[in-house]
Amino acid sequence: QHSTKDFQAADAQHYLHPFTDFKDLASKGSRIITKAEGAYIYTNDGQKLLDGMSGLWCCNLGYTQPAINKAVADQMNELPYYNSFFQCSHPAAIELSKELASVSPAHMNNVFYTNSGSEGNDTVLRLVRRYWDLKKQPNKRVIISRENAYHGSTVAAASLGGMSYVHNQFGKLPNIEHVAQPYWFKEGGELSREEFGVQAAKALEDKILELGVENVAAFIAEPIQGAGGVIIPPETYWPEVQKILNKYDILFVSDEVIFGFGRTGKWFGCDYYGTKPDLINFAKAVTNGFQPLGGVMIGDKVADVLKSDGGEFAHGFTYSGHPAACAAALATIKIMKDENIVDKVANDLGPYFGKRMAELSDHPMVGEVRTLGMVGAIELVKNKETRERYDSDGTAGATCRDASIANDLVMRATGDNMIIAPPLTLTHEQIDELVTKAKAALDQAYETLQA
Ligand code: PLP
Repeated sequence: QHSTKDFQAADAQHYLHPFTDFKDLASKGSRIITKAEGAYIYTNDGQKLLDGMSGLWCCNLGYTQPAINKAVADQMNELPYYNSFFQCSHPAAIELSKELASVSPAHMNNVFYTNSGSEGNDTVLRLVRRYWDLKKQPNKRVIISRENAYHGSTVAAASLGGMSYVHNQFGKLPNIEHVAQPYWFKEGGELSREEFGVQAAKALEDKILELGVENVAAFIAEPIQGAGGVIIPPETYWPEVQKILNKYDILFVSDEVIFGFGRTGKWFGCDYYGTKPDLINFAKAVTNGFQPLGGVMIGDKVADVLKSDGGEFAHGFTYSGHPAACAAALATIKIMKDENIVDKVANDLGPYFGKRMAELSDHPMVGEVRTLGMVGAIELVKNKETRERYDSDGTAGATCRDASIANDLVMRATGDNMIIAPPLTLTHEQIDELVTKAKAALDQAYETLQA
């Protein structure tokens, strides 16, 4: 048993963490997580925290799922590795492809596997280009994404992202453009939510016309902007966007890395909003986060072209469709189906979570509480009436995040948004516990910020 100090010293000396200020890490030391059970994680010092983020939005069924562990172990004993290059295949990947077709929208019948959401978005770019090349429209090169989006960390995925601090560290690939996001609370001004939703969609149409319809290949977006702050769009936004994409025959890519697999109370976020994507990028919860696996579901319109026009799609990864990861995904989907997780989120847990979270709206530093299914954000403000923020550096968010940890709850801070995406397996009592702890964190943060 190592002491936390030993772990932290070795960690700071040898381990460069993702999205971490290395100097900060050395001075403060990392939080060492050594165990997880159900909806809770435990630090090396024995602190038990309710994980309000399901890891990184991925352990949607919590941490204790022996059937997934067993499926992976069995697969490792039977066929621990084989690839699917050069006309090879294996049962786990074949079975999973069938399962994914069964839970995704009816027109989605093919899948291409990756190891992560970022690689999925690289795959999306190459699929989109190949589609338009095969359609003999090679001028269609531009992909439109949205400001404040997060689409991953490879060079291509970071270029798609709309958070400048992510792509500024390298620069952006060409032929990627960004449009406004439907962030009503921050940017809606005097408009009603409904009016603002239409206006945000109109910004996409304006962009398409400005770039030239003949040059625009695809539009990529999350159903709800996730890492950007759980920006739940006005109900008017997606129907307008879908109309615009149909009108100009522009491919639609739904990045469902966060909202796929039940979080909204539907299998995919596009099912919730009634949109019809041509491609769906997924990862994270497909294996309950227990194995790295991602992929792109490909709608029939694109798949038919790829399959009938011949020629090789020169793209793939050594671990595309890794047997152990596919086994984990099959077990995850089976649990979701057997335990009616999606219906439970829609009809029981989601409404209860929404109702309890709404009670936090009265808190003096809460500007808005947004929830949908089992995801939510608490937007922090200094002045409830004017929506003035504490500052532009996300100080309030960081203070509240630290207070949350002190109160044994993991919430994530994105700027001044406190994000909550707990396991879809919480009980009502655990939702009560989450809200009580979030309230205690808000009280503590408020006191700190007023001092
Ligand atoms: N797309 C979205 C919407 C994401 O939220 C993420 C990760 O959080 C990614 C893509 C990248 O996925 P990964 O971290 O598995 O590469």
